[in-house]
Amino acid sequence: MSNAPAQRTPTLLSVVAPVYNEEELIDAFVGRATAAVADFNFELILVNDGSADSTPEKLDAIADRDPRVRVVHLSRNFGHQAALTAGLEHAIGDVVAMIDADLQDPPELIPEMVARWCDGADVVYAVRRQREGETAFKLGTASLFYKLFRKLAQVDLEPNSGDFRLLDRKALDALLSMTERSRFLRGMTVWVGFTQTAVSYERDARAAGETKYTLRKMLRFSLDAIASFSHLPLQLATYVGLISAGIAFIGIPVVVALHFAGSYLPGFGSLTIAILLLGGIQLIALGVIGEYVGRIYDEVKHRPLYIVRDERNRPTNGRGPLVRAGLSLQAAAVEEHVHEHVG
Ligand code: UDP
Ligand code: MG
Repeated sequence: MSNAPAQRTPTLLSVVAPVYNEEELIDAFVGRATAAVADFNFELILVNDGSADSTPEKLDAIADRDPRVRVVHLSRNFGHQAALTAGLEHAIGDVVAMIDADLQDPPELIPEMVARWCDGADVVYAVRRQREGETAFKLGTASLFYKLFRKLAQVDLEPNSGDFRLLDRKALDALLSMTERSRFLRGMTVWVGFTQTAVSYERDARAAGETKYTLRKMLRFSLDAIASFSHLPLQLATYVGLISAGIAFIGIPVVVALHFAGSYLPGFGSLTIAILLLGGIQLIALGVIGEYVGRIYDEVKHRPLYIVRDERNRPTNGRGPLVRAGLSLQAAAVEEHVHEHVG
């Protein structure tokens, strides 16, 4: 048998885009996206992440006009990664592309990504060759984040590759079987393995509106990413603790020797510094543990990642959040069990 996979063609291409307060550009996005994939049998899934402007009405109007456009309204703003997950869970295609709705990712690249899939790649990620119209601060922090993530996580995430990706159904099902709440989808798509390929593109400036990622959200997002892919920050406390304990251990005979040599000066300053330093390290270590414990708490609660308020153009054989529904049934069974034995 030959190793080269046969050429394949998509039966149904799903394009998933999260949308949050994008009234100025949603029509332009849908126009460009549907034109870009017009050659395929496709569904465009727009997830309204609790928009507060006229985006929901615009989305409904689009769905009324075009049956290929599906709209999933979430009950409130759940955040970019949760909205994206909602879209992925609702997609029924055998090939699924995820893209930002702000036209920073050109939809015209999707056919090229599909071509890579046809050649046998299961995960195709788009790498930004250039990022237009972004502040030096965003570029700087992004590059710092990717460097840190590469160092800490055991996942080989391409720097400058965002969530603009295309997945084969196998890879997508693997991705959706990961039920964690803090989601770093671009890392998770790499983690699942399979055959991964890159295509490169120029990242444009946002077509209209402004970024929905505030500095706070970015920081949360980066912490989520690192905490869900690395335990090193937790272990760091152990290493630092070992080193400082080691130094203290060596320090004891030194102090004793100096005392007998008569050259020992009682140092108020050095003592204060040592206390402050160690106190600081301990607080940092506690904070790091807190970050993880908080996330464990979130995971244990097992809340749904998002809640759907309404759906437009849902196909008859449509998928919902299947995996999670199964899990919550299981949780209900466990609860009943507990009731029986406790109450
Ligand atoms: N988005 C979302 N929910 C949010 C924030 C953003 O669905 O809470 C969507 C947004 O409409 C856009 C995409 O996610 O389609 C990327 O967001 P944005 O362009 O603000 O992020 P940036 O490109 O600045 O990182
Ligand atoms: Mg953007």
